[in-house]
Amino acid sequence: MTPQTRTSLKELQNLDQAIAAIRSSAQSFDLLLEEVNAPVARLEQEVEALEKRLTELKLEENRIELTIEERRVRAAKLQERMDAVRNVREEAAVHAELEMVRRALESEEQEALSLLDQIKRLEERSEEQEAAHQEALAEVGPHREELVEEQQSADGKLEALRAERDAFAAGIDLGERRIYDSIMAGARDVAVAELTQDGACGNCYNMVPLQIQNQIRHGEGMIRCEGCGVILTPESEEGLARAREEGERIERALKTSTDQRDEERAALSEAEALEEAEQAAVAEATTAEASAAKASGPISDDPAPDMMSGSVFDTLAAEVAIEGQPVASDGALAEVLGLKAVTEDVVSNVVPAEELAIAAVTEDAAGELVFEDVASDDAPADESAVENGDDVPAEEPADDDAGEVADAGIVAEEAEPRKPTTDDE
Ligand SMILES: [Zn+2]
Repeated sequence: MTPQTRTSLKELQNLDQAIAAIRSSAQSFDLLLEEVNAPVARLEQEVEALEKRLTELKLEENRIELTIEERRVRAAKLQERMDAVRNVREEAAVHAELEMVRRALESEEQEALSLLDQIKRLEERSEEQEAAHQEALAEVGPHREELVEEQQSADGKLEALRAERDAFAAGIDLGERRIYDSIMAGARDVAVAELTQDGACGNCYNMVPLQIQNQIRHGEGMIRCEGCGVILTPESEEGLARAREEGERIERALKTSTDQRDEERAALSEAEALEEAEQAAVAEATTAEASAAKASGPISDDPAPDMMSGSVFDTLAAEVAIEGQPVASDGALAEVLGLKAVTEDVVSNVVPAEELAIAAVTEDAAGELVFEDVASDDAPADESAVENGDDVPAEEPADDDAGEVADAGIVAEEAEPRKPTTDDE
């Protein structure tokens, strides 16, 4: 395949694709016209049906008028004979016939009147329908004319293109053209495709072996894609430019989405930092309050509030544990500890043990939180048992309130109140 036929086949394909496009648009004109015409066509049919019926009625009416004419003539003749009868018998006979004719005449006149009435009504309806039809016609008229005009111009273009195509095809090597036509005949719109930049078929994107790529690029014979059968040609300047543009477009889109993702991440971490700072501030404030409260001395050593404080702390500690976050690194813990300190101090600030309890909660080397055994811990045995189930050894009740808070919740989760406890991350 010489470079000349290559371009020729491609141009032929361009013409064929243009023809196919115009042909399909011409078909859509047909559909559009039909759609636009539909209401008009319906009214037209109705008007036609009415007119047909009207013609039938008028014929019928004419026939009856004729019969009536004949009967009147007959009646007049009988009347004449009546005047000329010679005997009673004859008179009776003529009279009887005359009566018969008159009765028939009467009924036919009746029928004629009814027909005339029907005709009048039908004529009125027909006029109305005709007016509606004309109105519909006027309404769609401009659009219809436009469509018809476009259709005609498309037809004209199609004809010109076909002529151009035939003339052009005549200049192409017959063998090449036959192959081209046979591919196109398979109800396809692509028979010639360029190689892509990376050596694939431009129609089906199957990779073309390197050696064959070289043959195509050097214009050695007509080579067809093994995947889809199109005739392959080397990439053209326009094809390369298009590929470059497409590549740039993809790169731009990628960059945009990356930038967007980075922005979102930055916003997210900013929000997280803010939240942490807030939590730290809250913890600090509560600790300060706790110190203040402690300075003012014990407020109450009533066991009831104590239990309450225990349960509040249980809940908080349980929440921390359930969330499964490393407790020590979580701002929530600071809050919990702060709250705990407050509760302790306010409610049962009797012994220094409570402070020990808080201090005992430290971080171990791995950064995990360890609740160390607090000196003389005192969780009431019954409460501990309830929380841990029956497998927890009952502790001797102690007078110290602080330890209870230290271990109750988290220890409950671990079910090992007497041992160093780690958060089960
Ligand atoms: Zn292919």
